[in-house]
Amino acid sequence: MQREDLLRVMDLMSVREHHARTLLIHYRWDVEKLIAVYVEKGKACMFAEAGVTLVGAVDHDLPESLSTVMCDICIDDVPVSDVSKMDCGHCFCNDCWTKHFIVKINEGQSKQIRCMAHKCIAICDEAVVRKLVSKRHPDLADKFDRFLFESYIEDNKMVKWCPSIPHCGNALRVENDEFCEVECSCGSQFCFSCLSEAHSPCSCLMWKLWTKKCRDESETVNWITVHTKPCPRCHKPVEKNGGCNLVSCICGQAFCWLCGGATDRDHTWSNIANHSCGRYKEDGKKKAEHAKKYLYRYMHYHNRYKAHTDSFQQESRLRETIKEKVLNLETRDSKFRDFSWVTNGLYRLFRSRRILSYSYPFAFYMFGDDLFNNEMTAKERQIKQNLFEDQQQQLESNIEKLSIFIEEPFDTYSEEEVIQTRMQVINLSVIIDNLCKKMYDCIENDLLGSLQFSRHNIAPYLSKGIERAVEPTIGGSTKAGCNNNCQEADDQDNA
Ligand SMILES: [Zn+2]
Ligand SMILES: [Zn+2]
Ligand SMILES: [Zn+2]
Ligand SMILES: [Zn+2]
Ligand SMILES: [Zn+2]
Ligand SMILES: [Zn+2]
Ligand SMILES: [Zn+2]
Repeated sequence: MQREDLLRVMDLMSVREHHARTLLIHYRWDVEKLIAVYVEKGKACMFAEAGVTLVGAVDHDLPESLSTVMCDICIDDVPVSDVSKMDCGHCFCNDCWTKHFIVKINEGQSKQIRCMAHKCIAICDEAVVRKLVSKRHPDLADKFDRFLFESYIEDNKMVKWCPSIPHCGNALRVENDEFCEVECSCGSQFCFSCLSEAHSPCSCLMWKLWTKKCRDESETVNWITVHTKPCPRCHKPVEKNGGCNLVSCICGQAFCWLCGGATDRDHTWSNIANHSCGRYKEDGKKKAEHAKKYLYRYMHYHNRYKAHTDSFQQESRLRETIKEKVLNLETRDSKFRDFSWVTNGLYRLFRSRRILSYSYPFAFYMFGDDLFNNEMTAKERQIKQNLFEDQQQQLESNIEKLSIFIEEPFDTYSEEEVIQTRMQVINLSVIIDNLCKKMYDCIENDLLGSLQFSRHNIAPYLSKGIERAVEPTIGGSTKAGCNNNCQEADDQDNA
């Protein structure tokens, strides 16, 4: 990859590798950008902007007749075959060059090693550096290539190290759009933009705020789950007020603390066993202050987010049992041989379950006060929220249906029932895929797309899931274990 970019620029601008690299570093390895500047402003201007000085090769050509020349650094007479000349025309003995390169590489200056001549700012030819250093220090030549490769990653916003822990050693490159989710060959999936777990349809900022919130609120939420019970009508957590087992929610619903069931306001006096206070206070109804409301709102979204994350984890275990079921079906004497619907259905379930769980923190921020308070009126917000929740609920119910079908012991079913299950799974998979598309469409166009003051990018929805990213390879001919791509590039290079 790095090599491809270099070769393209070398070819286009007719420059050597080190100049191509300097240009590319300046344009953060964005070849398209570089070409655009080249077309618009011309070569000279572009080179000047990038700080590339094509020092006019003063003709210091060595007279052919001489068998030895004097090196200006070590003042030794050395055979012509043992000296190297850079673009700038400066010529020194290989021994002095090598020492110079080794010092620079060890100083971490591989990216731009300059000529040894006094006041010369020319950058040394990478091929010469590689050739001379590898003769004496093959390991250092590797280090040189690694440095160049690392700078390629550090300077390039389209290439990043895989964030897996322990680190798998891979760097990944994406095309076109940095707002995407990628999968490394090590199996880890992540958001390319912020390097945390894949979190679409949350934007990176939403996800960052959400994870922080979950950490900050976890104690409070635990306390509430222990000390409150959900109201049977509106599902808000209600705190028990004293020893009385008849509690009342702010929505007006009274219920029994012991069984959680809704009750009438007066009938329960004598019915609640071990009732000790004998008093029921009607006040406290308006005590739902802002902070509490805010927390309950968070809990609503968090509960659903957590429920789907938990389901996802449980369904992950289905992978094994499903293999068994398919195996059982395959050994049966049936006219069906194709069971791809099982694995496809399972895949659709995993994929959509994740999206559904991340759609809750998305909704928390989209329709809350934290991020977009000034973006819409309360009425607009309500309309948008209804629109979104309709789609979210449709998606949710279809995912639950699919989950039930996939968990069924269909390998023990009759032929007729297997056909039925197959049809259901295939249909639901298509419906879910379409609902996901629709929900993303709503998010990208009606919700995030209509924002005036803020920009939130999300990784787009892909039916086939998160894509495997390309791994750029370490360039340079000295690198052992070079893969085919790189080999090809080297061949071209030599041709
Ligand atoms: Zn010398
Ligand atoms: Zn020079
Ligand atoms: Zn990895
Ligand atoms: Zn992100
Ligand atoms: Zn209630
Ligand atoms: Zn009581
Ligand atoms: Zn009860």
